Amino acid sequence: MSAVWHPFTQHGLEEPIPTVVRAEGAALYTADGTRVIDGISSWWVTTHGHNHPRIVAAIQAQAAKLDQLIFAGWTHEPAEAVAAGLTALLPPELTRVFFSDSGSTCVEVALKMALGFHAHTGTGRSRILVLEHSYHGDTIGAMSVGARGVFNAPYAPLLFDVGTIPFPLGDGANTLEALEQACRAGPAAFIVEPLVLGAGGMLMYSPALLAQMAAICRAHGVLLIADEVMTGWGRTGTLLACEQADVVPDILCLAKGLTGGSMPLAVTMAQEPIFRAHWSTDRARMFYHSSSYTANPIACAAAVANLALWREEPVRERIAVLGARLQALLDSLADLPGVTNPRRTGTIAAFDLAVPDGGYLSALAPRLMASFRKAGVLLRPLGNTIYLMPPYCIDENDLATVRAAIVGAIAEAADQAV
Ligand SMILES: *Cc1c(COP(=O)(O)O)cnc(C)c1O
Repeated sequence: MSAVWHPFTQHGLEEPIPTVVRAEGAALYTADGTRVIDGISSWWVTTHGHNHPRIVAAIQAQAAKLDQLIFAGWTHEPAEAVAAGLTALLPPELTRVFFSDSGSTCVEVALKMALGFHAHTGTGRSRILVLEHSYHGDTIGAMSVGARGVFNAPYAPLLFDVGTIPFPLGDGANTLEALEQACRAGPAAFIVEPLVLGAGGMLMYSPALLAQMAAICRAHGVLLIADEVMTGWGRTGTLLACEQADVVPDILCLAKGLTGGSMPLAVTMAQEPIFRAHWSTDRARMFYHSSSYTANPIACAAAVANLALWREEPVRERIAVLGARLQALLDSLADLPGVTNPRRTGTIAAFDLAVPDGGYLSALAPRLMASFRKAGVLLRPLGNTIYLMPPYCIDENDLATVRAAIVGAIAEAADQAV
């Protein structure tokens, strides 16, 4: 029996937990030699493909040179290269790069930066606004700014109170009115997942709405925190989702695809006034945050290689091609029984499956997953939402296999419900 306690896994259900021994491109290979197509980029992290040779080489070379270094008061070349590469690639307003090691921690850092800014500039603001159905991670602060539900109910006593702005319906007037009203009360910041709410069910809204939300925040002195942990690195069709709305957030969170999905690394980028609010000869105003592995050199080397891929390979063209293929795949499923609300933003395609009469919603996702597993496809529905978020290198053959697996799983789900 394994001693491993897995994340988001109910061990009591004794569902199979396959062992994966290697990966390449869009494929995983299990211990018994089975090839599995990674339809969700190993939980939204793998962008170019697994084990990209240039990223692997960068990790190997860096591991032999400098493995780890205290980052308070010391620096190293890979971290400097990541910071220089990010500031060159992203909007020039985002001048400062703070390192951490996961999506959750870069969100925690963003919240602390926002509160630090308001504390040091004496505005008296501390309340955080969030968008309904959001997900920002699983640490206490990140859970506090995320949707409440069964997954965090036991920890509710530890979560801080936030102002929740309703998710846009139709033209989004409901969201804009609520945001305008909430902003008048003088909150510190508004944190959003731009264009796509991931864990909330791949819920999508328009760039125009994002632009309007940003404008309301700006008009009221409310810092805009863009959590692009999932949407960044090309997922929504552009390098950043914010690009499509011509929005530059005050604070930007990046993780998952920052290393191409190969190593844990995250950054929180900030506009200059946020850095300046902490800048002083007074030690009490420094930014009090660190973790042991802040800017780990090996992870930074992977990020440097990822940045080089973005500069030197036709990544944007690959994303456009994949987006078109996913749209065709989605269109071909639209008429199947039970398929509703098909939607796509960039390389994220999703639809909802109407639960047949007598169907039992919480049993649906595991049943679908078992069916996908048999077909050699890794997909992990969110409730009754089936979505695809493959690595950008996935080819048409593998997409056809994924499509067949979805068609089969839908048919099976319908059979079992009768
Ligand atoms: C995955 C995710 C996080 C959390 O990232 P971890 O690396 O899993 O801690 C935060 N925000 C968004 C939008 C995410 O999708």
